[in-house]
Amino acid sequence: MTDIVDIDALKAKYAEERAKRLRPDGNDQYVQVAGRFAHYLVDPYTPVVERAPVRDHVTVAVVGGGFAGLLAGARLKEAGVPDVRMIDKAGDFGGTWYWNRYPGAQCDTASFVYMPLLEETGHMPTEKYAHAPEILEHCQRIGRQFGLYDNALFHTEVSELVWDDDARHWIVRTNRGDEFSAQFVATGTGPLHVPKLPGIPGLETFQGHSFHTSRWDYEYTGGDPAGAPLDKLGDKRVAIIGTGATAVQCIPHLAMACKELYVFQRTPSSVDVRDNRPTDPEWFAAIATPGWQQRWLENFTANQTGVGGDEDLVMDGWTDLSRRIRAKIMQLPPDQMTPEGMLAAFEDSDFEKMSEIRARIDTIVENPETAQSLKAWYRQLCKRPCFHDEYLQAYNEPGTHLVDTDGKGVARITESAVVVDRPDGPVEYEVDCIIYASGFEVGTEHARRAGFDPVGRNGVRMSEHWGTGMRSLHGTHVHGFPNMLLLQMTQGANLISNVPHNFVESSRTVAMIVKHALDQGYREVEVTAEAEQQWVDLLLTGPGTFLGSADCTPGYYNNEGQQSAYNRAFFVGYPQGAMAYFSYLDEWRNSGDFAGLHFR
Ligand code: NDP
Repeated sequence: MTDIVDIDALKAKYAEERAKRLRPDGNDQYVQVAGRFAHYLVDPYTPVVERAPVRDHVTVAVVGGGFAGLLAGARLKEAGVPDVRMIDKAGDFGGTWYWNRYPGAQCDTASFVYMPLLEETGHMPTEKYAHAPEILEHCQRIGRQFGLYDNALFHTEVSELVWDDDARHWIVRTNRGDEFSAQFVATGTGPLHVPKLPGIPGLETFQGHSFHTSRWDYEYTGGDPAGAPLDKLGDKRVAIIGTGATAVQCIPHLAMACKELYVFQRTPSSVDVRDNRPTDPEWFAAIATPGWQQRWLENFTANQTGVGGDEDLVMDGWTDLSRRIRAKIMQLPPDQMTPEGMLAAFEDSDFEKMSEIRARIDTIVENPETAQSLKAWYRQLCKRPCFHDEYLQAYNEPGTHLVDTDGKGVARITESAVVVDRPDGPVEYEVDCIIYASGFEVGTEHARRAGFDPVGRNGVRMSEHWGTGMRSLHGTHVHGFPNMLLLQMTQGANLISNVPHNFVESSRTVAMIVKHALDQGYREVEVTAEAEQQWVDLLLTGPGTFLGSADCTPGYYNNEGQQSAYNRAFFVGYPQGAMAYFSYLDEWRNSGDFAGLHFR
């Protein structure tokens, strides 16, 4: 089938493909990586070093050493807070970039806006979309420059955070036996750091080798994160399960290396043009004038969220969709300049964009059946959009086989094979190794994902306070949890096209609040119940986000297609959009009175 031109037929096709994938077990289809699966979590990159438990007091404990934590740590240090303690379960800074060292890993948002603190560190990204080793090194650079290694605890997982109301500080306990107190706790624990496995029957019976993409086993595959060929796979039959953003990046490398590569696909990703290129130092020197990165950040976000002006500095797949939507809206006759008319224009440009993405596949993939199976039948932002210029080409390698499961997924795993059910019976694919590109826990309970469930004032747990949905002011302050500051994007800007931009702003807030409290001698700061309620009410007046859309094909963006009030509250952002949120936040911070917060 070539592409569908009739919009109603296209909508029907989207609905039909979605229906194939909806399953009653939602998030429960995935297996928690624990117990007999715990070996999938072992850190292959840094040996764990024994150390004595820590028993002391710090002014701020920052949980998480990825971009969010690093930004918070850096801004706190800049603000003059001397004792900041960074804590991470990894063996170094980097967060997701510590764990994800699979071949081909690189950022999907332009480095100039994705990599934080470029101006402060003076680092020039070497490519428009930097590769993982450079991003990991940049995290370490930030750690060194801002003195964040002093006092840091790596290979350390927070197990308990308990507010001590008498002492007016947090008690932090960890899996390394530490027990120390912190006046403030900032958490930047990220949404995508707990790997999950697909709950495929027989998973535990496989006798070959297997690993999750976030713990890439270079011992087994050969090669390295910098892109050296995976030279130990030349005689291996390898299965990769999953075709999300991770798989799209590593499959080209596997395709070049394996004797046979079987890609098990349940839902195809949309894969648009990447157009990566090295950075020209002269060009960079010309743009890197004072304040450049903030200008670029704002320009990208404004363009990507459809409120940009004429200039689009980044010019990529993320901003392309918004440019098209704007152009369509501008063409609307005056009587159709209504919210409905604009939504229809948005839908139209999405259909166009996705048609182009599907048509591109036919121009690259030689086998027409494979090409057809690689086509994504949903709106572009239903799943994480992907951008790549070697992924589709990988299917032209003679040893690479797309095993499309028509939305059903892998049926079973045996001691030596991955099994797919076909109308005329099961087909077994004998393999030596299974690579799980099955993603991360997103929609499960907070405690399962964070590893801890903070206990606030009066012994109330965060999971209880959020029992019917997340509640916060700005996604940062939670009533009943004094001196705790969350660095994350939900209930704030909710900007997914450039996640670090959310942290660039929230880390400024964190540093300003801590500094204000310390300067004024306040022991506690907490959002009032009224301010928290008003913020949640305000958020719910907005249109919600397309991300949580029930019409989308299931995935972690929409809680595997299962809508709930919790889900709605979880995924919302500021009603007027990211740019409006950032300017609101700036004003709120700079006014100096931090309306809604109570300092004691
Ligand atoms: P995803 O959750 O996006 O993908 C998991 C994959 O596993 C999906 O293709 C899913 O299919 C598939 N799957 C699950 N169960 C089965 C089954 N039983 N049989 C067959 N297939 C199955 O994980 P990723 O690690 O790819 O990406 C997670 C997120 O990490 C991305 O969305 C992105 O936000 C981020 N990321 C960012 C990158 C960057 O910025 N450079 C790079 C990589 C990741 P289905 O779609 O049907 O559920």
